Amino acid sequence: MTHDATTAPRWTREELQAAFAQGYEIGRAATARGKVADYIPELAKADPGAFGLYMLKPDGETLSFGDAETRFSIQSICKVIILAAALKLRGFNETFSHVMMEPSGDAFNSILKLDTRSNLPFNPMINAGAIETVSLLLPDLGFEDMLACARELCLDPSVTLNEAVYNSEAQTGYRNRAIAYLLKSKGVMSADPEQTVDLYFRLCSLSVSARSLAGLGLVIANDGIDPFTGRILIDPEHVRTIQSIMFTCGMYDYSGKFSVNVGVPSKSGVGGGIVCAAKGPMGIGLYGPALDSFGNSCGAVKAMVHISQALRLHVFEY
Ligand code: GLN
Repeated sequence: MTHDATTAPRWTREELQAAFAQGYEIGRAATARGKVADYIPELAKADPGAFGLYMLKPDGETLSFGDAETRFSIQSICKVIILAAALKLRGFNETFSHVMMEPSGDAFNSILKLDTRSNLPFNPMINAGAIETVSLLLPDLGFEDMLACARELCLDPSVTLNEAVYNSEAQTGYRNRAIAYLLKSKGVMSADPEQTVDLYFRLCSLSVSARSLAGLGLVIANDGIDPFTGRILIDPEHVRTIQSIMFTCGMYDYSGKFSVNVGVPSKSGVGGGIVCAAKGPMGIGLYGPALDSFGNSCGAVKAMVHISQALRLHVFEY
């Protein structure tokens, strides 16, 4: 392995294999400390002991451990796809005239500062910011367009809508509706709040696997280019913006500590997934529905701490 500041790190197959195999074991053992999300019955059904890990490189090299093909709902990780789509459709200036790019220091579904301190949501990775960003997609893009976008960015044509999760989200999403109506009342949102939350609920309910998240992570880590077709899926300037916001805001209220300890642009969801856009470049997708108190997969966080240290993946480490 080289640590030359001018070249990307390179690992032998054995080094990669060892780091991921150990990370997988550490992560799987840590699942016992977490609890699956239960705000909707569909998520409560997940097996708390499930754990999967998938790594994908542009040369097609892969590593797969455990429940890497199990499907689960993408939940908050869709916020990355929403941001990419909004930047493409509306551009940087218009997008960031509707949402800021500051860590909030509050829970992902908090409404507090939005009402008392600022009209604009703090960043696109919290619910208020993602809901506002979804509103920017309407009326030009609907669910089918966004499903196509998700399939493309995840390098996975099998991404589908989990209807049961969607129905549960739609039936119980009062806080998200409150956020949308608050944004509307402040004149920040132009779209219809009901249509906006409906698209947001559908996008949270996309069914992915650790493997799909590795695809998404790879596209982001590879400057927005699908390495297998050469197509530019996200403008490189937008990729830099997305990675910066994932780095500072992607792991809920644990984002600071995760950036220090892992140092890889990542985003998690309460379905138990984490997407990581790592050096190499490589995409890493993780799945472990047992969550810690911040809402991040316990096992996936522990696995990433180990993998990042073993392969020197921290963005500030050369
Ligand atoms: N559907 C969830 C919500 O909007 C997503 C939350 C999450 O993954 N943090 O509350």
